[in-house]
This record gives sequence, structure tokens and C-alpha cells, in this order.
Amino acid sequence: MSHFEKNQNLHPVAEDMDTFIKIRRQIHAAPELGGETPDTAALVAEKLEQWGYEVHRNIGGHGLVGVLKVGDGLRCLGLRADMDALPMSEKNPFAHASKIPGRMHACGHDGHTAILLAAAARLAASRNFNGTLNLIFQPDEEGLAGAKAMIDDGLFERFPCDAVFALHNMPGMPVGTCVVQSGPTMASSQRVSIRITGKGGHGAMPELAVDPISALNSLISGIQTIKSRNLAVEDYAVISIGMIQAGTVYNIIPDEASMLISVRTDTFETQQKINRRIEELVQGHALSFGVEIDLDFTQLAPALVNSEHESDLLRESLRPLFKEGDLLARMPKKVMGTEDFAYMLQARPGCYFMLGNGTGEFHGCSVHNPHYDFNDELVKVGSDCWVKWVEDYLV
Ligand SMILES: [Zn+2]
Ligand SMILES: [Zn+2]
Repeated sequence: MSHFEKNQNLHPVAEDMDTFIKIRRQIHAAPELGGETPDTAALVAEKLEQWGYEVHRNIGGHGLVGVLKVGDGLRCLGLRADMDALPMSEKNPFAHASKIPGRMHACGHDGHTAILLAAAARLAASRNFNGTLNLIFQPDEEGLAGAKAMIDDGLFERFPCDAVFALHNMPGMPVGTCVVQSGPTMASSQRVSIRITGKGGHGAMPELAVDPISALNSLISGIQTIKSRNLAVEDYAVISIGMIQAGTVYNIIPDEASMLISVRTDTFETQQKINRRIEELVQGHALSFGVEIDLDFTQLAPALVNSEHESDLLRESLRPLFKEGDLLARMPKKVMGTEDFAYMLQARPGCYFMLGNGTGEFHGCSVHNPHYDFNDELVKVGSDCWVKWVEDYLV
């Protein structure tokens, strides 16, 4: 007999996955964007309160935390789900498709929320753990701002966590597969903006001008050598120049030229190496071309690095839930996407792991695509993972 069955009467819905699949579809049909997730947060809060959680609202905006203490254990665990959708129109035919044009749950955060709610109900029913469980529901993951907003609003001071964990669905990997990888797992994302100021003039008299376009041209070539000449083969990085802007017509040398660069790396150290090299190139070009160059780095998210100890513990805890060979310790392919749970992992040890979302037309379709859909089978798979992990960690 499971621990759950003992308290079945108190929480008749806890093991009925259809209830949580309905919640998932309800959230999917009414997506909310960025930090503006009041209805989703209200729905989550209402359910958690119904199951006996102490709910704390409006943490870093519409973020909320549900707390459940069982026994006298001193350990405290944080599990995080994201709640926000994307500013794009859904092109799926099914009944639960988004009702709001220009908004879509195309990353499966509706599913992550439903998974954590299903686990919340089951854990409240079984109470088969000893310690403090903090369920963290976060807005604005896609804007890479929600996690930081909650941390800045005192998340870990108000709700101490020995470690924090989160999961994401992974389209293209079959349902029933899982990756728990330790170390660097998702990339940092940084925007670099460069503005070069020279001296404009007539195209016929370049000797009277200081041409910012020549400096820009040379700087582009220099930046393109960073990855090939300054990084080691094991330094993962993507450096993409996404925008250049200068001039108006063919015969005027403009005053200014500018560019925007996207830099992604899988460690802080590699990011620092690249930034240092960009600074050196900028200084060198300012000097050799006689221009002024403004340089600005904007950190959008740090690299997500899973701590080794917690990742190993989680992997061993989850092992009995998966068939042999279906629980992987390495991602099949390097991912250079970003995830703002990285901020929480800078503050606390923990792990961000992946669950296969399936293959085929909708479930195998890439996230952020108008045909993607979260796979409802994962509500069971994911909540099984959370329940097992809470029971193993909070002892
Ligand atoms: Zn996304
Ligand atoms: Zn996502």
C-alpha cells in the first residue's frame, strides 16, 4: 500500500492525472506573458491553499511560493516551475489551443506548472517526507527576468532552501527518457553593443573625415577571430553579430557606426575570456583608427551550471522510475539555449533536468514553434519524479 492510499479520502484528486491534465489545458488556453501572470498565479495559489499549503503571493511580481512543513526535519528543498508563455500565435487545431491571438504556451511552461501542482497534491496527501518543501512558481522565464526578480525580493531569505531543482520538457526525446546532467548545462546569454564615433564628411574627401565604417569593418573581422584564435577547443561559445548600422547614402561618410553582438557560453570563465578579448580589440581599434568606441555588456542570463553532488543524488533517486538506458547523464547534444533558473543555481546548489516530451507532429516539434504542444503524459512522469525526489531528499 502506498503512503498516498492512507490519506486518499482527504485528497481524492491527488492521484487522478486527468485533473492535472485539465489544469494544464486550462492554463494552455489562456496564456499570460512575461511578468504579467496574475490569473495563472491565482489558479496555482487557489489549488495549493486547497491542499493545505501556506501560500505567499507577489514575490518579485506575480511569483508565489507554496510551503508545506511535515515532521521536525531541518532540511528544506525548493522546486521551481515557470508559468509564462510566449508572444506568438498558436497554429494548432485542438480544442485547448490558445484562445488569445499573439500569445501561446510554446515552451511547455503550462505543463511544468501542472506537473508541480500534481506533485503538490500528491505530497500533501501522502505527507511522506520530513522537512520543509518550498514550491516556487515563477513568472517571466522567457524574459530571463522572473527568477532574478524573485531572488531580489528575498526568495531565499524568506524561504531558505538547501538546494533548488527545476525541470524542462525536451521535444524530440521519447516520453520516458530523462537527462540529469551535472556541470554546465545551459548557456549564458549576453548582448554586447558597440558604438563607434568618427568624423563625418564628403565621400570624395576621406582625408578630411575619420571613417567609422572602416573601423567597424576591421573590428568585425577581429571579433570573428575570438572563437577560432583565443578559445580552447573545450570552450563552448557562440559569438554572433546580429546587427550593424551605419550611414545613409553612398557619398557621405557617416559620423557613427554601431553593432550588436550576441555572446553565449557554457561557463562564466569562457564568457570572461571573450569579454576581455572584445575590450582589447575595441581599445586597439580606437587607437589605430582614431575613433571613439563605446562598449556596453548586458548580461541577460548567466550560464546554468548544475552542482555535481545534487545532480548525482537526483539521478540516483530517479533511477528506479526509468527503464535502463532511458536515464541519461549527458545531453545527447550540446544546448546553447538559456534558462533563467541559472540565477537560482548561482544562489543555491541544485539541478535543472530534462524530460523527453516525445516525438511526432506536436510533441516532437521544437519549443517556440507555433505547432509545439506540451505532452500531457509528462504530468504523470514529471510528478512521479518530484514526489520521489522530495521523499528521498527530505528525510
Ligand atoms: Zn522558452
Ligand atoms: Zn521554457
